[in-house]
Amino acid sequence: MEKKELINGGKVKSVFTTDNEDQVIIEFRDDMTAGDGERKEVMNNKGAYNAVISTKIFRVLEENGVETQLIDLPQPNVMLAKKLEMIPIEVIVRNIATGSLVRKYPIADGTKLEPPIVQMDFKADEYHDPMLNDSIIKALGIATQEEIDILTEKALKINEVLTEFFADAGIILVDFKVEFGKDKDGNILLGDEISPDGCRLWDSETLDMLDKELFRKGKDNEVMDAYVEVYNRIIPDDEKVI
Ligand code: 5GP
Repeated sequence: MEKKELINGGKVKSVFTTDNEDQVIIEFRDDMTAGDGERKEVMNNKGAYNAVISTKIFRVLEENGVETQLIDLPQPNVMLAKKLEMIPIEVIVRNIATGSLVRKYPIADGTKLEPPIVQMDFKADEYHDPMLNDSIIKALGIATQEEIDILTEKALKINEVLTEFFADAGIILVDFKVEFGKDKDGNILLGDEISPDGCRLWDSETLDMLDKELFRKGKDNEVMDAYVEVYNRIIPDDEKVI
């Protein structure tokens, strides 16, 4: 397996082609960004922690019937994955109101959301990821109604599985963002990553934040300890590679 051409240099990951044209190599870098990439710092081993956490989560989801792009984790910060044509939608699921929801709408921080909110944002930094609705998605030609329904159903299934998975580790899954893509046969698979970069995770007892929100709030010296805490709680000792 060899890295060939860089096809997507994202804010925190680099995607390369490889010998097999149906596969890609995703390198998780040590960069941490906030504010559409306006602030960027390098955090030691952050790429590896996110790749291992994301791989564990993708395996748990696969065991529960959610297909993902994951094939293997040949190195702690390098994922071998099925090549997908990514759909430019950030599907966000919220179990507790916080973040941009409470900034934009009259709802109190910490309100339980039952049923959870499923929100779709346009993945486009230059437009600051604006919120979409079904008509806008169809007008932009991003997805069909059938695909929107599949994304919603898969996001809610992921929420169900991961809420329980994190609860077993003493963590509340407050909200998260997922991205999907189509494989060569047109199947919609979960892609990208699920890690503390794109989830709000709170300690069940103390409600301490265990995710990138610490970095967004300028607590740069606390954020990696939180990622390591999540890693230690969800990765069994015999699967630890960092
Ligand atoms: P909010 O809209 O409240 O800022 O974020 C809701 C959830 O989606 C949070 O868990 C946040 O981490 C995630 N999220 C939303 N947009 C992005 C994004 O552009 N990048 C990442 N990594 N996560 C995002």
